[in-house]
Amino acid sequence: MAHDAPQATGPSKLVIRNIGLLLSGALERPILDADTIVAENGRITAIGRFKDVNTEGATTVVDAHGTTVAPGLIDSHVHPVAGDWTPRQNQINWIDSYLHGGVTTMISAGEVHMPGRPRDVVGLKAMAIFAQRAFWTLRPGGVKVHAGAPVIECEMVEDDFKELAAAGVKLLGEVGLGGVKDGPTARKMVGWARKYGIQSTIHTGGPSIPGSGLIDKDVVLEADTDVVGHINGGHTALPDDQIRCICEGCKRGLELVHNGNERSALFTLRIAREMGDLNRVILGTDAPAGSGVQPLGILRMVSMLSSLGDLPAELAFCLATGNTARMRELDCGIIEVGRSADFVLMDKAQHSPGKNILESVQLGDLPGIGMTIIDGIVRTQRSRNTPPAGKVPEIVIGH
Ligand SMILES: [Zn+2]
Repeated sequence: MAHDAPQATGPSKLVIRNIGLLLSGALERPILDADTIVAENGRITAIGRFKDVNTEGATTVVDAHGTTVAPGLIDSHVHPVAGDWTPRQNQINWIDSYLHGGVTTMISAGEVHMPGRPRDVVGLKAMAIFAQRAFWTLRPGGVKVHAGAPVIECEMVEDDFKELAAAGVKLLGEVGLGGVKDGPTARKMVGWARKYGIQSTIHTGGPSIPGSGLIDKDVVLEADTDVVGHINGGHTALPDDQIRCICEGCKRGLELVHNGNERSALFTLRIAREMGDLNRVILGTDAPAGSGVQPLGILRMVSMLSSLGDLPAELAFCLATGNTARMRELDCGIIEVGRSADFVLMDKAQHSPGKNILESVQLGDLPGIGMTIIDGIVRTQRSRNTPPAGKVPEIVIGH
């Protein structure tokens, strides 16, 4: 296992050929008619038929052997702490395990599990800047962890947000986990954050653990964060009528998490679809947490929403890729020229009853992952965590 630096050394050219099904991650066109992807120096440079694209000079060639290629999955809601260790359940290598579940990018919703987490303004700013730096420098298994998400406290002033932004902080931790729990204060600080280019999210629903509190629809709508964090609760969800009010009362991101209420997630999905707002729905795990760590959590959400929510699987994958990338302004998440070459290669799990991967996911099964690629570099081959797939890709040139 490698703790890779952000970039590969030297020029590189990756070719993935014999792709059986290409999922784009974009809702408006979820399936692409192509069997080959070319990526140079970590960015996608061509997508098309093998005979039509320039594959010469490849440093790595992957034969997909008819498997499905999708953008690497994005977990919109994690709570990282220090490298690949979480004190919440005292586990190591949890991020590497997520990579084996197809997750190539993670967004911190606050480093709240840091033992002795400082709550004074100087201390919380220092910790946010430290976390942003630390996870930028160290990528467990190559996974891109966007961290450094301070939990706001009532004593903060506008200059604190300006200073955080200037230091490279781009996210707020969940509003409500700190001392700010009322609508007017939250709205004021979220506004300051937005003014300096810092994205925000909020803890929606009942308390997650002893010590945290209720955030109801009035606070969520007044705070007006960019993302309505775990609208299906973390763990306790708001009543359905309040979830409906939030969906209809704003145009912000609607985040569904694994560690929430699954029935409320399906309810939110239905409302978003009725409103024609499926593009607002994004997925996370909200792990590590009391419910533990779920290496397959994003795949499980895709499968759960597709099967129980009657959502075509190719669209369900968009909720975990392109939707999140667009909302979070990431350069990955969609198979498109110019974007980051972050992929997951998978196939229908052995013995799943569906006739292909999409049908098997719609029947509620998980796919088997055969390979992950980040920045055009193969990071893992056959997953140690998913069920084994029928077909697996193979590296035919390179390593
Ligand atoms: Zn939360």
